[in-house]
Amino acid sequence: MSPRPESPMTRSTCPYCGVGCGVVVQPTPGTTEAGDCEPSAPPVLVSGDPEHPANRGRLCSKGAALAETLGRETRLLEPRIGDRAVSWDEALDHVARGFLDVIDSDGPEAVAFYVSGQLLTEDYYVANKLMKGFIGAANIDTNSRLCMSSAVAAHLRAFGADAVPGNYEDLELADLVVLAGSNLAWTHPVLFQRLQAARERRPQLRVVVIDPRRTATAEAADLHLALAPGTDGWLFNGLLHHLYREDRLDLQFLEDHVDGFAATLRAARDTAGSVPRVASACGLPEADVAQFFRWFAQTERTVTLFSQGINQSDSGTDKANAILNVHLATGRIGQPAQAPFSVTGQPNAMGGREVGGLANQLAAHMGFDDPGAHDRLRRFWRAPRLAARPGLKAVELFQAIESGRVKAVWIMGTNPAFSLPDAERVSDALRRCPLVVVSDCVADTETTRLADVRLPASAWGEKDGTVTNSERCISRQRAFLPPAGQARPDWWIVCEVARRMGFGSAFPYTRPVEIFREHARLSAFENHGERAFDIGALAGLGDAGYDSLAPVQWPVFAARAAAAPAIGSAPSEPDRAGRPGTGRFFSDGRFFHAGGRARLIPVVPQGPSLAIGAAFPLRMNTGRIRDHWHSMTRTALSARLSAHRPEPFVEIHPTDAAAHGIGDGQLARLSGTGGQVALLRARVTAAQPPGSVFVPMHWSAPQAPAARVNALVPASTDPISGQPAFKAIPVDLRPL
Ligand code: SF4
Repeated sequence: MSPRPESPMTRSTCPYCGVGCGVVVQPTPGTTEAGDCEPSAPPVLVSGDPEHPANRGRLCSKGAALAETLGRETRLLEPRIGDRAVSWDEALDHVARGFLDVIDSDGPEAVAFYVSGQLLTEDYYVANKLMKGFIGAANIDTNSRLCMSSAVAAHLRAFGADAVPGNYEDLELADLVVLAGSNLAWTHPVLFQRLQAARERRPQLRVVVIDPRRTATAEAADLHLALAPGTDGWLFNGLLHHLYREDRLDLQFLEDHVDGFAATLRAARDTAGSVPRVASACGLPEADVAQFFRWFAQTERTVTLFSQGINQSDSGTDKANAILNVHLATGRIGQPAQAPFSVTGQPNAMGGREVGGLANQLAAHMGFDDPGAHDRLRRFWRAPRLAARPGLKAVELFQAIESGRVKAVWIMGTNPAFSLPDAERVSDALRRCPLVVVSDCVADTETTRLADVRLPASAWGEKDGTVTNSERCISRQRAFLPPAGQARPDWWIVCEVARRMGFGSAFPYTRPVEIFREHARLSAFENHGERAFDIGALAGLGDAGYDSLAPVQWPVFAARAAAAPAIGSAPSEPDRAGRPGTGRFFSDGRFFHAGGRARLIPVVPQGPSLAIGAAFPLRMNTGRIRDHWHSMTRTALSARLSAHRPEPFVEIHPTDAAAHGIGDGQLARLSGTGGQVALLRARVTAAQPPGSVFVPMHWSAPQAPAARVNALVPASTDPISGQPAFKAIPVDLRPL
């Protein structure tokens, strides 16, 4: 039976990508009191919310098919210990006792949480509070580590805070948009729709795409730089030096607001000091490099948007800083249509950053390296055991499980045995781990198969809370369906375990609004403007105010809330005076490092650290396709979405296909350096550059067990951010 919608009309937020589109959910006409509607008709209709600033009514194919993905046939419906269905009480007691036993015998560092950008901010907040504040270790990390942690590290190095400077509106106002390592048309489709609509209105808006592949986004570009995989650092270093030589840097802005110019320029000159050198390093025609540099030099109103093609590299932080360097050195930051802009992959990657969901953050943009932060948070939480040092980042965390250092892990809303690099080794580590708890809405994943305890979590449509999108806009997700079976919200499950561990007084919440208010209060607690994240004005929200909360962009300072215009409103005027409410950071030239100055970071570009050779001659890039999301637990439920690319595939250039004896449509064996193999259908296409292959990351055990591509990716991480490389991986491809 279809679940019956609980209210006539609900505004919520799409659970997929970091654009964070608003949706309107209404019962399907003809739905009865018993919850039935026409056979096979979904119980609700989902349309774009015309009032949400991210999308103004638009949706992409995934958002438009949300109603088709609400089926409950794949759901985890009751708590289970091993194969036994148990009551919530028994399951929660078992989990709490298991964690306490490990803490008693091996200390707090022997337990870990691995959470997800799919969690709501309220879920994230209590999980972080329990681990860091009350268990007393910082071993909580998130699958957002795989997506944007290099951008976070770069922001911290350059700005002194993880503050995304721009807005979506800036893309529409710009005269030049540079898309670096982003297939925006497929991965952030509504943002791409907005960009294309702006180009129709303003034909002078040029788009440059920097991507080895000729993607759907590259097809639509004015200039496509199909650079060799991993060479972005040379390109942006070369751009910085070119702008210097052409006298296009903002020397006054540098003098007034930025440190590190001389050393950074020297590194740029020494590594990429001429167009021919850049062209040679990047494998690009000189004319194309020169064209890009010329456009960038001539165009004040420039936005550089970057995504996983930059971040998912073992030198991703440096690459991101090479981009930030160019914007800081030209003063193109904090003004309308002038920003470097990291876009997140997941719906709430930004919310996780706000609460401290990464192992190297405390909470509310306070870090372990901030001398006063530890004491401040300890007092706010009344947490005598607050973790004193950073915890294990995602890859390290599972390596610690493998080595036996971590003996109990709780995995929430994610599938690391599928999604982490070296996925088979992660599976083996979990097999050996004495206690594996998984809370998820899905019953059967690579990770739930390895769990000792499975806890049914509420899914999208049943959950209530907030998420934050790539432009720092906080939006409500609202429930419109009853929970499936015995499913409960993640925040409730965490709080129940916390109570059973003896921390009940710190976890008294009965509704998400209570958690949100505390989160907002913490963001403003002794925050005298030295931390970017501040939503203090929302700390006093009443229940009704939270229920009806309209999308709002942070910061939302208590004293300034009334002055803040809505994002997506009319284009803002330049504002270097620090006027609040422009929706842009750094409009006053003040940054978050001590002294208020930004820092340029000297970058010595690094190519991919994993070498190709005779045995593994091809470089594999993994990524998303248009109509699927993550491991397809939701999108595979829609026949329409599955029709776009019905089976796992590998794209290969015709020259390589011929050299490897592979025909279009043939089944092929993709093998990695660790001996793992994936079976995929070959798509022979000139859109793929010679010497490389592209493989989507979506297909997992329930759909195609032999296509688990992350098993072929070795665990090579960025030394600063800990983000793993999922690009430029050495592989071989042979016909089956
Ligand atoms: Fe959802 Fe992203 Fe599509 Fe918007 S662009 S509808 S957030 S998947």
